[in-house]
Amino acid sequence: MKLTILGCYAATPRTITNPTSQVLEIKNRLFLIDCGEGTQVQLRKNKVKFSKINHIFISHLHGDHFYGLIGVISTFALLGRTTDLHIYGPKGVKEIITLQLKLSNSWTTYNLFFHELESNESEVIFEDNRVVVKTIPLKHRIYTNGFLFEEKPAERKLNVEAVENYNIHIAYYQKIKNGGDITLDDGTVIENEKLSFDPIPPQRYAFCSDTVYNEAIIPIIKEVDVLYHEATFLESEAALAQKTLHSTAKEAATIALKANVKQLVLGHYSTRYGDINVFKQEAETIFPNVLSGDDGTCFEF
Ligand SMILES: [Zn+2]
Ligand SMILES: [Zn+2]
Repeated sequence: MKLTILGCYAATPRTITNPTSQVLEIKNRLFLIDCGEGTQVQLRKNKVKFSKINHIFISHLHGDHFYGLIGVISTFALLGRTTDLHIYGPKGVKEIITLQLKLSNSWTTYNLFFHELESNESEVIFEDNRVVVKTIPLKHRIYTNGFLFEEKPAERKLNVEAVENYNIHIAYYQKIKNGGDITLDDGTVIENEKLSFDPIPPQRYAFCSDTVYNEAIIPIIKEVDVLYHEATFLESEAALAQKTLHSTAKEAATIALKANVKQLVLGHYSTRYGDINVFKQEAETIFPNVLSGDDGTCFEF
């Protein structure tokens, strides 16, 4: 699982920082999460192939999370893309994007599918044979979802030595990988555990931005491998966080602790603070495994 942070600062883009966007590579699938202004430039800088992006997830319709979307969609068309593109985002995203395409008379060269979200309950919005994506309903000033990316459990690993010892025919290998027991010609049943090894446990990544401190998300993100949680402010600005429905670094860490996640990644920093290390320091007083997200950082988990 590889996470590339393209941008992780709140509000306006600056020469040195970018608004929210990130690329998650999981089980050889590539997902673009949020698409703040400048995302296509950041994709180029970080050498992410445009052609590998087939699914874009938009958390909410504040500008710092989607003003780059029309740019990405248009550039894909200018490059002659023919592959389908799927956009998952709040109801209204289709209207906004199609209005821009219509008034500029620049319809795409490829099929554009919108999957509009309205539910306040967590729901499955994408699924294939390797990955499932669910929404994480967040509490913010407008309708907002985080996203939970889950690998599907892998097949069990064949214990080659054991299957050869029992003289099991190759035709049964898939059954063993699927967890099945094997009955030999003499009627003896060989339990699956003797013929295979446990697969690598599936990994899970939770993206949570923007949101006020909200314990309702804990059951959905419980024990994820990596939690990205917004930390717009420090505790010194807790009142402002409450008022604008954002979180502090301490609150992000508290969610990480209560959800018993393995790793916390911080982001969506207000640009009022000169040094982002202060967010990590504050979070570490509550939860030990904290990483500071920053534009252009790439984490492998
Ligand atoms: Zn934001
Ligand atoms: Zn917002």
